[in-house]
Amino acid sequence: MAHWPARGAARRIRLAVALASGLIGASATVQAAGPADVATLDLRTWGEPLDTSAGFDRASRAALLVYASTLHGLPQRDEAQLLTHLRIKRLNHASLAQWQDGERARVWRNYQLASADCRAGDWSCVGPVGDFALLGEAAQRALAGLGEELAAWRGQLTAFSQAYLTEQMRLAALFPTVSSEIATFGSHEWSGDERDDRQFFLTFDDGPGAHTEATRAMLAQHGKTATFFVLGENLQARLRAQGAEALTRLYAGQCVASHGWEHRSHARWDDWQASVLTTRSLLHSALPQSTILPLFRPPYGQRTADSGAFFAAQGIQVALWNLDSQDWQRALGADAIGTRMLALMLIKRRGVLLFHDVHGKARDALPGVFAALGEAVSWPDCRELAVRH
Ligand SMILES: [Zn+2]
Repeated sequence: MAHWPARGAARRIRLAVALASGLIGASATVQAAGPADVATLDLRTWGEPLDTSAGFDRASRAALLVYASTLHGLPQRDEAQLLTHLRIKRLNHASLAQWQDGERARVWRNYQLASADCRAGDWSCVGPVGDFALLGEAAQRALAGLGEELAAWRGQLTAFSQAYLTEQMRLAALFPTVSSEIATFGSHEWSGDERDDRQFFLTFDDGPGAHTEATRAMLAQHGKTATFFVLGENLQARLRAQGAEALTRLYAGQCVASHGWEHRSHARWDDWQASVLTTRSLLHSALPQSTILPLFRPPYGQRTADSGAFFAAQGIQVALWNLDSQDWQRALGADAIGTRMLALMLIKRRGVLLFHDVHGKARDALPGVFAALGEAVSWPDCRELAVRH
């Protein structure tokens, strides 16, 4: 049985909350709505395998109890306190409230799904709960009764939940003035929350880049496929430098889609439609043998609220994500990326993972994630990413 991390012998370690902080600096200029604090943790304190359905569900229930307890117990903050807490200048109360309602519903649903095989005597099974508020209260009672052996795990996951909730609330409070993956503008858009339980998709943005070839090789070695959202200008540069055959080999067995021509906000760019159309033309002319999906992922998740008619007319889906690795953050290494994603997968239980193949961290982190999860989750073929749910 594979434990997390598969290569580590230690199953119990000291409390080591690794909340990266002070990351806003230079990174904020490239990721307009990026968080100031990124949620990471060390899941070895859990100490139980995740690579069976039962193991995954038990870890998922436990993680959801901590997350639900944190969400339920969020302090009441007035506007000034919220602005300071989220480090923003304006906030959209309606958007924030809508996200919180949706997140409560998702957490309640996910806990029901994770409880299908619950047995008597398992502390992570708090019984049928009729709504999110009841789940939050039951979670707080269950966690209060935990022994010393899970104190470190609980402390870490609580800090993780607080930091992650802050990340998400910040995006929700900025929406739609700053658009992002936090909400959709219509049925032509999706984030990954719509996928089936325990179904996950891999996506890599911003390439082709320095780590694309090694990332593809790693995926092939593990029998996995991913969708690469490429930038038109990067694809054109690679085509000119290496030719069409090399480009076809680069994405062999994988799926390719559009990230636009340049890495610019498609919400604040007069030529955004030309960016989408030109990139699509180049994809089809440069990669005629490859699997090209009719998807567009806006850089930073930024697109205009009224872009739906254009995308519908072009037969293009706007492909967002719901599991953000934050792998572009300089302070986060491959281990932090892997554990962050694992924790989010336990909480979200489905969806679309966002990485970047212009960095090498996902290539290093994903083998450990695959090993830790074993057969407990499914990684459908990348072509299914374009199948509507
Ligand atoms: Zn990008």
